Amino acid sequence: MTMRTYRYFVCPKGHRGEERTSENDQPFSKNWEHVTLTGMKEAPPNSGEGERFVCEQCGAEMLPAMSARD
Ligand SMILES: [Zn+2]
Repeated sequence: MTMRTYRYFVCPKGHRGEERTSENDQPFSKNWEHVTLTGMKEAPPNSGEGERFVCEQCGAEMLPAMSARD
């Protein structure tokens, strides 16, 4: 069984980003988690504040969005 989780982000200029996480916990396969980023990329891990993303189009920091269509 595969479970997918979506999280949506938006940058200050209005560009949208999406993080899609797929998890598979079938007993006969090794647990795995796969993360796909759309419209953004991981920020360099130099801030010490954990997971951050930046916009692929303008490089601004992405902020969590309430929904995909606000
Ligand atoms: Zn942007």
